[in-house]
Amino acid sequence: MHELALASSVLDIVETYRARHNFQKVHSLTLSFGELGGINKKSLQFAFQTLSEGTIAEGARLIFVHMPAVVSCSTCGNTFQGAAVPSSCPACGSEDLYLSAGFEPLKLLELDVE
Ligand SMILES: [Zn+2]
Repeated sequence: MHELALASSVLDIVETYRARHNFQKVHSLTLSFGELGGINKKSLQFAFQTLSEGTIAEGARLIFVHMPAVVSCSTCGNTFQGAAVPSSCPACGSEDLYLSAGFEPLKLLELDVE
């Protein structure tokens, strides 16, 4: 379960920020990741809850921002969003398609603190 490692690294970042900005409590954290990155939101939530116990991030709300999968066409350069990957480019008919986004690693976008 790599969500445990992810939650732990998020908490490390929170600690680093706290050392710099000296806040007392974390209300919420906004996290983004690619929807194809294989991150399980529920596991991550659970791991975070478990690991944040006793830290300033205890009870903080997690807000998830999904980066959608994007398919690009190498022939015409068009991009298409969506989970379903077309077998050929809807714009030019080329079958030379590749996934250009959706695998972004977990990133901490925002910290709401006091
Ligand atoms: Zn195309």
